[in-house]
Amino acid sequence: MCPQIYLDNAATTKVSNNVKQAMLPFFDELYGNPSSMYAFGQQAKEKLEIAREMVAKCLNAKTNEIYFTSGGSESDNWAIYAATQIGMRQNKKHIITSLFEHHAVLHTLKKLEKQGFEVTYLPVHSNGIIRVQELKNAIRPDTCLVTIMFANNEIGTIQPVQEIGNICRENNIIFHTDAVQAVGHVSVDVDKMKIDMLSLSGHKFHGPKGVGALYVRKGIALSNLIEGGAQERGRRAGTENLPAIWGMAVALQDAVNEMEKVAAYELNLRDKLFNALSKIPHSAINGDKDIRLPNNFNMCFEGIEGESLLLLLDDAGICASSGSACTSGSLDPSHVLLAIGRPHEVAHGSLRLSLSKYTTQEEIDYVISKVPEVVDYLRNMSPVWDQLKKGVRKHVL
Ligand SMILES: *Cc1c(COP(=O)(O)O)cnc(C)c1O
Repeated sequence: MCPQIYLDNAATTKVSNNVKQAMLPFFDELYGNPSSMYAFGQQAKEKLEIAREMVAKCLNAKTNEIYFTSGGSESDNWAIYAATQIGMRQNKKHIITSLFEHHAVLHTLKKLEKQGFEVTYLPVHSNGIIRVQELKNAIRPDTCLVTIMFANNEIGTIQPVQEIGNICRENNIIFHTDAVQAVGHVSVDVDKMKIDMLSLSGHKFHGPKGVGALYVRKGIALSNLIEGGAQERGRRAGTENLPAIWGMAVALQDAVNEMEKVAAYELNLRDKLFNALSKIPHSAINGDKDIRLPNNFNMCFEGIEGESLLLLLDDAGICASSGSACTSGSLDPSHVLLAIGRPHEVAHGSLRLSLSKYTTQEEIDYVISKVPEVVDYLRNMSPVWDQLKKGVRKHVL
């Protein structure tokens, strides 16, 4: 078996050893129900509130502004439903978002469109970043919500969140950001950036899966998501997943503490990838080269299919991802790559590599030697590449 090189950290990350150790006592010593009256339950309750405080501190939020959820998708859904409930009460039924949001946002908005909401989808342009002026132009008297992601999960580009926050605050519009890719990787300050609601997920920064949080600024009426017990201030019933919540809090604290160091480390390896793989002819970097997450690499190679590339890289022991939605059984190219203006045939030939603090120099060297080989191999078999070579078809990259 070839070495297993994991370069899909935007999909999920390994739980760090420190986090794993921190979670263990919750299974056999601290397993009380935080809602129980006796001391054993209250001990768990205390830990729950410490975890909430830890998460809040990492975002510069207040403790009572943090709600625990099952992950990024739930946080996105909840934030959007809550904000539009408020909008409905004020007869405001217009929402602004971007074309390249995560499906947890886009599919929720599609559902709301069927219920009578109007949605404006801002373009993200070839650099993968929205233009603030276009946001300003899209604002209407009945706009109740702006939901724009902090950093994109496919191409890693970072949006001008603070400017968006300022504009929304000036116009009295709720600003939600899906910060699942950003939290723990780049600095996030909800107060300074005037963010009203923010989604995060534990498994994107070396915490466990199935746990996340929603930050909701004090003063915003958050509607209930799950009816039942009084957990999460009565807004999301169900016994808390304390081992996971604690694991996420520890993971976030660790990620924030070592953020600068890890970012510099990843950036160095990431740029080595860009420099080496940009030498492949008829290729292009997707998204702004610099205004992006330090661990995100994404390129298109003309004349190949992303799916075949992934399969061959898998054979070589490399776990990577493509812009095309091959895993969902759909042949549609990525909505993100189409949003930045890549033509269909090019959007199919994309490669995303997302690094972590566990990625090594040796692994990157191996990838740098392997990818050009695989791209060459696939191009030689491709009828499209043959047409490009013969000049029957024109190059777009
Ligand atoms: C992973 C991800 C999500 C979904 O988070 P889950 O915890 O897996 O539900 C949402 N948005 C973005 C940008 C993501 O990267």
